[in-house]
Amino acid sequence: MKELILKSGRDRSTLNRHPWIFSGGVKVMPDAENGEIVEIRDNHRKLLGYAFYSNQSQITARIFEFGETECDINEAYWMDKILRAAALRKLCIDASQTNTYRLLHAEGDFIPGVIVDVYNEVAVVQLLIRGTESIKESCYKALYQLGIKHIYLKTKQTTQRLEMVESSGWVGEPVAMPIQVKEHGVKFWIDVETGQKTGFFIDQRENRKLLGQLSNNKKVLNTFSYSGGFSLYALEGGATLVHSVDSSKEAISWCDKNVALNQFQGNHQSFVMDVFDFLKTAEVDYDIVVLDPPAFAKNAKSLPNAIRGYKNLNLTAFQKIKPGGLIFTFSCSQHMDKELFRKVVFGAAADAGRNVRILRQLSQPEDHPISIYRPEGEYLKGLLLYVE
Ligand code: SAH
Repeated sequence: MKELILKSGRDRSTLNRHPWIFSGGVKVMPDAENGEIVEIRDNHRKLLGYAFYSNQSQITARIFEFGETECDINEAYWMDKILRAAALRKLCIDASQTNTYRLLHAEGDFIPGVIVDVYNEVAVVQLLIRGTESIKESCYKALYQLGIKHIYLKTKQTTQRLEMVESSGWVGEPVAMPIQVKEHGVKFWIDVETGQKTGFFIDQRENRKLLGQLSNNKKVLNTFSYSGGFSLYALEGGATLVHSVDSSKEAISWCDKNVALNQFQGNHQSFVMDVFDFLKTAEVDYDIVVLDPPAFAKNAKSLPNAIRGYKNLNLTAFQKIKPGGLIFTFSCSQHMDKELFRKVVFGAAADAGRNVRILRQLSQPEDHPISIYRPEGEYLKGLLLYVE
C-alpha cells in the first residue's frame, strides 16, 4: 500500500485522532490515485493509520482507522465496521416504534464520506468523497445481511462534480415510491428518489418528540416544515391548531399527505410560502413556534450572511410569540458552532427586549454520533426557549 508521510512525529490530527490531514502537515505525498486507500506514517515511518487519499480536496487524507498495527482493509473489515454501527443503533432505537434511522454517519462512525439512512426495508446510501465507491460493494453486502431489501444510491450533484463519484440510482431491485415508515409510532410517507436529502430529516426525531410532549391544547407554528415532521408530533400531542410553512410545493404536498395518513383530531393548515413573508403577516397568537431553517451557512465564506439570516428569523419570532410562549430554534450549519449560534439568538432576544430563558439545549440524536475527536461533527444545534 502507498504511504503518506507526515512532517512531524505526529501532527495534531493523528495525535488527537482527528480524522482529517491537511496538505501543510504532509512531508511526502503518496504517488496514489484520487480516492486510493493509503497508509499514514510519521516522519520515522511508523504506522499511524489508514486513510482515503485525495489529491483534489483541501483535505489531503481522511483517516478511518487509527493504530500502529497493520490491518487488512478488505471486505471483512468494512462489513465488521458496518455491523458494529448497526449494533449501536439497536441499542438506542426501539424498533417496534421507529423503523427509520441513520445507520452510518460518516466520520461519526469512522467511515468518512459514507452516509446510510434506513427507511424500513430500504437503505439510502450516500457516497460523498472519492474512494468510498471502492467500498460500496462491502457496504451493500453488510446491508443485505442486516435485512435491507432495497438499496438506493443517492449522490449530491455538488460532490459529483467535486469528487467525481457516480450518479444516483437503485442498486438492485427497485421499489415503488413512496414508502411508509414510522418514527416513535408516527407514520410518514417517504420518497427517497425525489425527497430532499435522503428523503427525510431523521436528525430531528427526538426534538420532534419533545415538541409533541409540550403541545397539548396549544397553537403551533412549524416553519420550514418540509414534510411536516414537527407538525405531526404537535398534532399527535394534542395541539388544537398547527400551521406548517414551507416554500416548496412538493414539501407541503407531502406534509398534507402525512397529516392525512395519521388522522389527528386537531386543525392543520399548510402554506406554500416564504417563511420570512409569512411571519410578517402572521396574525395568530401562537403558543409554540418552531424555527428549523436549512443551513444558511454552506461554507465559511457565507457565515456573515448566515448570521444575519438567523438573527432576523429569531428576532421576528421573538417579536411575534405570545407571553409564556415556547420557541424551538435550530441551526444545522456546520460552520456555525454551538456558542456562535447561542450568541446570535441572544442578540435577537436582546433586540426584541423580551425575557428569554433556555429550557433545554438540543442536538442530534444517538444515531448521528459525534466522534469526540471531531467536535465539528455536532452540526445540529437547537435551543428550547421560554419567552415572557
Ligand atoms: N423541520 C423539517 C426539516 C426542515 S428542512 C423536518 O423536521 O423534517 C428545511 C426546509 O426549509 C426545506 O423543506 C425547504 O424547502 C424549506 N425552505 C428553505 N428556505 C425557505 C424559505 N425561505 N421559506 C420557507 N421554506 C424554506
